[in-house]
Parts: sequence; C-alpha cells; structure tokens
Amino acid sequence: MFRRPRPTYDVEVGAVTPLTSTLLRLTFSGPGLADLTIEHPTQWVKLAIPEGSSRAYTIRHHRPAAREVDIDVVLHGNGPLARWAAAARPGDRARLAGPRGRHPDFDGAAHVLLAADESALPAALTILEQLGPTTEVSAYFEIATPEDTVPLPDRPGITTSWLARSTGPGSFGHPKGVLLTDTLLATDIPPGTVAWLAGEATAVATLRRHLLSDWSLPREHVHAKGYWKHGEADHKG
Ligand SMILES: Cc1cc2nc3c(=O)[nH]c(=O)nc-3n(C[C@H](O)[C@H](O)[C@H](O)COP(=O)(O)OP(=O)(O)OC[C@H]3O[C@@H](n4cnc5c(N)ncnc54)[C@H](O)[C@@H]3O)c2cc1C
Repeated sequence: MFRRPRPTYDVEVGAVTPLTSTLLRLTFSGPGLADLTIEHPTQWVKLAIPEGSSRAYTIRHHRPAAREVDIDVVLHGNGPLARWAAAARPGDRARLAGPRGRHPDFDGAAHVLLAADESALPAALTILEQLGPTTEVSAYFEIATPEDTVPLPDRPGITTSWLARSTGPGSFGHPKGVLLTDTLLATDIPPGTVAWLAGEATAVATLRRHLLSDWSLPREHVHAKGYWKHGEADHKG
C-alpha cells in the first residue's frame, strides 16, 4: 500500500520546559509551521532527530502565528528519542513530518471514557480541550508518582483518577500499564460510553477486548491505539 508523502518541517528547539518528573515539553519553531494544519485532537507527527531515528509524537499545541508547536515527551530513558529529548537544548535541530491520525468521533456520546499513560496524556488533553462542555467524562491517567499530575482544562462533568505507579520513596511501583488495566477491569462502564484508550500496547489491547466483550460496546465506540510496547523499539501500533 502506498502512503501519501507527508509535508516535512525543519524545526529547531526553541524552549525546553519540564512538566512533571517524566514529561518534558519541547517547543519547536520553524518558518514552515505557519502552514501546518491541525484539524482535530490527537493528531501526531513523526519527529526525526539528526542521528536518523524518528518516532510518533502528538502535537500538544500549535501556534501558527508564532510558527511553533509543543510536543510533550516521556523521559523513559531507553530509546533514541527519549535520550535526545532529555539532552535537548534551544537551537537543536529536528524535522517533523505530518500531521497524521484519524479523527476520534465522540458525537452523541452520553459518556466519554479516556484512559492513558504519560505517552498518551498529551493526546488525551487535546481531546478534553475540544469535547463539548455537556459531555460527561471519566479520565484515568497512569503517572509515575502522585506529584506528576498536570493541570486539566476547567470543565464541568469530569471525574479524573490519577493512578500513580509509585507512591513514594521505598515504593518499587507497578510496571507501566498494570494499574490502568487493573483499575479499568474493575470499573463499571455506563451505557452510551465512547472510549479512547492509548498507551502501552498490551494494556490497550486488553482494555479494548474488555470493553468490546464484557461491556458489549460497539467497535466504533472504542478508539484504541498502542503508543509503544514493552521491550519493542519503534512499535508500530
Ligand atoms: C500516535 C502516537 C502518538 C504518540 N504521542 C506521544 C507523545 O505525545 N509523547 C510521548 O512521549 N510519546 C508518544 N508516543 C509514543 C512514542 O512514539 C514511543 O514511546 C516511542 O517508542 C519513543 O521512542 P524512543 O526512541 O524513546 O524509544 P524506542 O526506541 O521506540 O523504544 C526503546 C525501548 O523503550 C521502551 N519505551 C518506549 N516508549 C516508552 C514509554 N513511554 N515508557 C517506557 N518505555 C518505553 C520500548 O518498549 C523499548 O524497549 C506516541 C505514539 C503514537 C503511535
């Protein structure tokens, strides 16, 4: 199958802003970013670094007039992109290709379920910012420690569960994906739910199956994507 070539944008790091102990915001600037078109939440680009690797990252914010985008990167320490981001300084060069990604449809949802680990938190926030104010939302976000929450859009009708893998010094913590899975497997899903799940691929696949089989949600009401997979570099979801 042929893929339509995506526009590419030469960019440089403009600012580096720690958000939590595991999430780092990189603000990229580049003249072409005035022409980048972001049409819906969760859109993403391939971020390519000078040594040649590239991985998928969500466009958290796009400011066309300033020719800037923000990308929030998980510092998991174990891959070329995570290592490059941890050492990034203003002036470092990179290339973005995209945008890509399907439009997750929440039209008519009585209730929206969002489930994400840190890698999918930026995308989940783009959804939260665009959902209608009357939609009831339950959000489950797996994070490293209780201090790693981020501010959420101020909207009515949202119930948020921050699931911290480690509860403090001396706590070994849960492997990534376990808390999200265990919590949602034990949670009632209201009728009319439309779900968006993203994060570690095995956890996402387990939750998708659970929603389809045990709660009989229609397939089109379960948007699920593995953003990375334990032990697999450059996982293609
Ligand atoms: C559509 C889409 C949007 C995404 N948006 C974002 C985003 O906004 N921010 C973000 O940080 N990530 C995002 N990701 C996930 C990101 O692409 C992967 O985490 C990617 O593997 C990181 O590349 P790397 O070079 O750091 O590690 P890789 O070389 O790909 O992997 C090396 C090792 O690190 C492990 N690993 C990869 N990611 C993680 C992680 N998050 N935690 C723990 N271990 C990990 C792998 O299992 C592997 O063992 C997105 C993925 C997709 C598909």
